[in-house]
Order: sequence, then C-alpha cells, then structure tokens
Amino acid sequence: MRNIPMVDLKGQYDRIKPEIDQALASVIDSTIFIGGGNVRNFTDRLAEYLQVNHVIPCANGTDALQIALMALDLKPGDEVITTPFTFVATAEVIALLRLKPVFVDVNPCTFMIDEYRIEQAITEKTRCIIPVHLFGQASNMEAIMQIAERHQIKVIEDNAQAIGADFKFSDGRHQKLGTIGDIGTTSFFPSKNLGAYGDGGAIFTNDDELAAKLRMICNHGSKVRYYHAEIGVNSRLDAMQAAILNVKLGHLPDYNNRRLAAADFYDAQLKDVPGVTVPKRAKYSTHVFHQYTLILEQNRDEVVQALKEKGISTGVYYPVPLHLQEAYRGDGYKMGDFPVAEQLSKKVISLPMHTELTEETQLFIVDELKKALQLKNDLITK
Ligand SMILES: *Cc1c(COP(=O)(O)O)cnc(C)c1O
Repeated sequence: MRNIPMVDLKGQYDRIKPEIDQALASVIDSTIFIGGGNVRNFTDRLAEYLQVNHVIPCANGTDALQIALMALDLKPGDEVITTPFTFVATAEVIALLRLKPVFVDVNPCTFMIDEYRIEQAITEKTRCIIPVHLFGQASNMEAIMQIAERHQIKVIEDNAQAIGADFKFSDGRHQKLGTIGDIGTTSFFPSKNLGAYGDGGAIFTNDDELAAKLRMICNHGSKVRYYHAEIGVNSRLDAMQAAILNVKLGHLPDYNNRRLAAADFYDAQLKDVPGVTVPKRAKYSTHVFHQYTLILEQNRDEVVQALKEKGISTGVYYPVPLHLQEAYRGDGYKMGDFPVAEQLSKKVISLPMHTELTEETQLFIVDELKKALQLKNDLITK
C-alpha cells in the first residue's frame, strides 16, 4: 500500500542536503549555540525579505504570541478579539495572561475572522484584535486596521501559516503578511511553510519602542545583564535552527510557488466534483497554501477513513472550534454561538500539501477521493 504523508520533510531535505549539512557543521564548529552570527544573519535576512524594521527571534510561535501580548501592557480582564477557527495557541496565550478571549465568527468562504462582525464584539474593555492568517492567505487586514484605528485598539497578526504571502491594499500597495499590524508573529514549526528542524518562532514590528520591549521580554525582562526592568520569559531561537532557517529562507519563494502549483492542480481536478468546494482565494491576498482545505458537504469523517485505508493522510483543521473546547467554555460560550465555525469544523478536510508533491501522487489522491465520495453518496441514496 502507498503511504502518502501530509508533508514530506525528508524529500525536501534531500534536495538541499549539502547546504543544510554544511550550515549545521559550521554552527557546531563555532560552538556558538545560543545567539551569535547565525541568529543575527537569519533575522536580518528575514527582515529584508518581509520589508519590516524588526524581526525578534523566539522559541516558538506560541511564545511569539504571548510575548506580543505581554508587550502591550494589558490588564487582567482586558478583552482580546480573535477567531474560534484556529489552532488553540492563539486563544491559549490570551487566557494564560488572564485576558479574556472574545471570539468572532468566521467568513464561510475564506475561513478568516469576519471583519463585518468585529465591531459588534468591541466593548470598552477591548484592547486588541488577533486575526489569524489561516491556511496561507490573509484575513482582511485593510478592514481590520481601519476598525482598530477607529477604536484605538492594537492588532497582532498571527502569521504562523502564511509567511511570504502578500496583502494587496485597495490602492494597489502590497505588503507582506505579519508586517501590517502593530505586531506580527510566526512559527517555524517543522511543517510550517518556513520550517526549522525543531521549534522556533519570530515576532515582527515596525515600531522601534515595541521592538525594544519585545526583545527585553524575550530575555527575562532584561536590557542590561542581571538587571530586570520587567517580568519576562526565556524564549530564544537557537543557532542551529537559525542556520537551517537561513538556508531554507533562500528557498521560501520556490517552496511557496510549489505549494501554489500543487493547489492549482488540485483545483483543476476537483472544482467540478459534486459535494466538494475547493478553497476560495481572497482577492486582497496572495495564497501560500500552508494547507489545501476542501469543504465536503457530507460524510467528511467517512472520507477521511476511506482515504486512510488507501494510505493517504488527511488533516482536519480544526475538528472543534475553540469556543466549544472544554478549556474555553468557561466564558459562557455554547453550541450555536458561532455557526459558521461550527459547520466548518464538521466539513473541512485538508489534503496532503507540501513542496515535494508530484502530479502522479496528486492524481492518485484525487482519484481515491472521488471514489470515496462516490461510495458514500451511493450509500446515502440507497
Ligand atoms: C503553528 C501555529 C501556532 C503555534 O506555533 P508553535 O510554534 O507550534 O508554538 C500558532 N498559531 C497558529 C495559527 C499556528 O498554526
């Protein structure tokens, strides 16, 4: 039986092995494992690529979000608006800091926080909005920044899934995601579009003062060694990960193009299949397809199982919206509060999506998907 994974990090490594091996050997040879030239070099190049003034490295994408929130000097009970249809980290850090996550339902086409519903959720306690650029394209940052300005609240972009994607403003300007809000965050988890060989993360800002504060928080709240102005954390990107990321950053445009080509191919094969909705692409954003996520009108779980039996991995991102998670129900949320996110959680399925997909593999996946759907539809009509 074939074994088709969601991501193929081995195949990707094989193509850049000499570069990676050499970069790692040089870190070990230098014995500078924390900080140093490799970390600086990588963050400088990433800042250049993203066209942002400051890239602050940290240990992972969850820390990046937490440190971003810590830098805004919020008080317990302050409200932070975000989406219920995201990875748990986004809401987790809000709750961890004794802030209140306030969820807003998502747009059924883009899966992003619905900008038309944000203002209804704003109260005198709202301090921040965290839009998540889910699956590789943008939340509507132009609308969100206008709302934030009107209400004098901050914006933190969770860009763990869309590094390299562009936002297109209505005046024609382009800007990389993660650099539009007051602060942006990302994750270098191995399966992300720019993935390390371990954990890593980064925080972006164009604001010099915020940058200084973010750096200080990452480093135990200290600017001068052993003097601590604030309560901080220990969150670092290590030199080995930085060296690997430095190599992979050079390939990121190619990686994102490969994902886009794979998505185009899936689209062409699947766009006319009944009961299947291929991913909608927002006009205001390019798409770097961190995930290729379909909506299946029926039998999603049975299709997942049928594909599994053929050796094809799929993902369900996300099976339970955050307001219905045990940990987040305390705030009085209940089934029915966010019907779009709830419906999506029952209908979405993500197909294998990575930089090493071949058309032959994709055709096999598409074929088996069609068979699985056919089978299930037959069962229903009988
Ligand atoms: C991966 C991810 C994170 C967390 O990143 P880690 O590096 O795993 O901590 C946060 N938000 C979103 C949307 C993610 O996809």
